[in-house]
Amino acid sequence: MLREHASEATARPPIGPLAVPAGNLRDELVRTAHWVADYLESVATRPVVTPRTPSQRQRLLTSPLRNEGRPIAEFLDFVEAEVAPYPCGNGHPAFFGWINTPPAPVGIIAELLSVALNPSCGMGEHAAMDMEHGAVRALAELAGLPPGTGGVLTSGGSMANLLCLAAARTWYLRQRGVGDQTDGADYANAHARLVCYQTAETHMSVGEAAQTIGLPAGRLRNVPLTSDSRMDPVALRAAIRADIETGLLPFCVVSTVGTTATGAVDPIQEITAVCREFGSWHHADGAYGGLGAAHPDLAPHYAGIDQVDSLTVDPHKTLNVPIGCGSALVTDPTRLRDAFSLTASYLDVNEELPWMSDYTFELTRPAGRALTVWAVLHQLGRQGVSDLIDHYLRRTRLLRELVAEHRDLQLIADGPWSVTCFRYLPADPGLRPPDPDTFTAELGRRLQDGGRAFLATVRIRDTLALRASVCNYQTSDDDIRTLVNEVLTIGEQLTKS
Ligand SMILES: *Cc1c(COP(=O)(O)O)cnc(C)c1O
Repeated sequence: MLREHASEATARPPIGPLAVPAGNLRDELVRTAHWVADYLESVATRPVVTPRTPSQRQRLLTSPLRNEGRPIAEFLDFVEAEVAPYPCGNGHPAFFGWINTPPAPVGIIAELLSVALNPSCGMGEHAAMDMEHGAVRALAELAGLPPGTGGVLTSGGSMANLLCLAAARTWYLRQRGVGDQTDGADYANAHARLVCYQTAETHMSVGEAAQTIGLPAGRLRNVPLTSDSRMDPVALRAAIRADIETGLLPFCVVSTVGTTATGAVDPIQEITAVCREFGSWHHADGAYGGLGAAHPDLAPHYAGIDQVDSLTVDPHKTLNVPIGCGSALVTDPTRLRDAFSLTASYLDVNEELPWMSDYTFELTRPAGRALTVWAVLHQLGRQGVSDLIDHYLRRTRLLRELVAEHRDLQLIADGPWSVTCFRYLPADPGLRPPDPDTFTAELGRRLQDGGRAFLATVRIRDTLALRASVCNYQTSDDDIRTLVNEVLTIGEQLTKS
């Protein structure tokens, strides 16, 4: 049937400067598809990253725009020559930096299809928007949130945290009878007294979100951590009490379920209990670890996740959905709508079928998020999600074992999630570097430049550590061994020099 439509379409002559004759487009898509498949097959044999020369960079930074256009076939050649050889590294199975992942193959197909269809998941009533509702519901269910949870897919965890903080603010002020700015002085007065709680381990996007919603400076409190790098609920209660005594309004507590630095999970139930006591919103940032409830070993840390008010989950992390795809999941989605449903006369509002744009800051929104999440979740199924997390945890266990076994390696932090923080520190005190942090930073840099594996460094309390996160569906035990061998080889070289 599609073919019939296609042959009608080919009867239309190409019109205008963007048009491409149908046969020509088909050839280019096929050539690109072959290139993509070859590229993905060869990624593991390429360097993880390749440094660029200043002149290579200039060609991209300042390339002048010609007056005349060029054939579309040149674009693939350009990407092949100038972009593909200098990757971010996250497609490679020996990439352990930050929490950046490769694209799930079915996600690549879904992304291509989504841009061919190109609906906006902001307005109108169409299938892709229903897919987004469905994808949100599936994520919420995997995360252990209650039925009725809604929300939106976002560009990433940072945007999801921003949306949830904005929803928390609007909800909290509405509870006090001053939900929007038309409430004038009362709104301004209450807003000026808002205070929010996090920890030193909270992702910086929460601080940025707090600034963006206009939280007064200095009102993002760092609650002390217990010795296992988790928020101390006793200290949280004390901090809120002290703030209330001075007339402040504790509108929101942000916990982290899977911290970026060490993979720790804050005590969810205890934090919710404190929030209930003071009428605060509990936002859990699970950009990295939000799907922990889907794996049997992690699930015990997620008891009570169904009681949070909102949860951030990044499908572009744990699920290897192509970048940028996060999600803001809100157990009562009308609260998200209350914060974002200002409308305009040229937009029809259907109360029965609210548009996705009523739940977020964006109006014209890509369908790629919905199609990629849907595609990946349907390939995996519930069991596949658990197996994928299991794959990360097994490789992580091997890494920790190798670190524990070697006398010159020292484990510094290992959350329940798949992050391992460690350092090279010779067992022989006579060989120890005078400044271990400088040594670790140099080791990390050399490892990155070497191109065989990639990790980043992180400060854990007073120590600079190497940080390896396993979040790639293709990472094998051999890739873990490659990483450890690189660390040992470079560590020995640096010690001798
Ligand atoms: C990665 C991360 C974020 C930010 O998400 P982006 O998708 O990079 O915007 C927020 N919180 C935590 C805990 C993260 O690990």
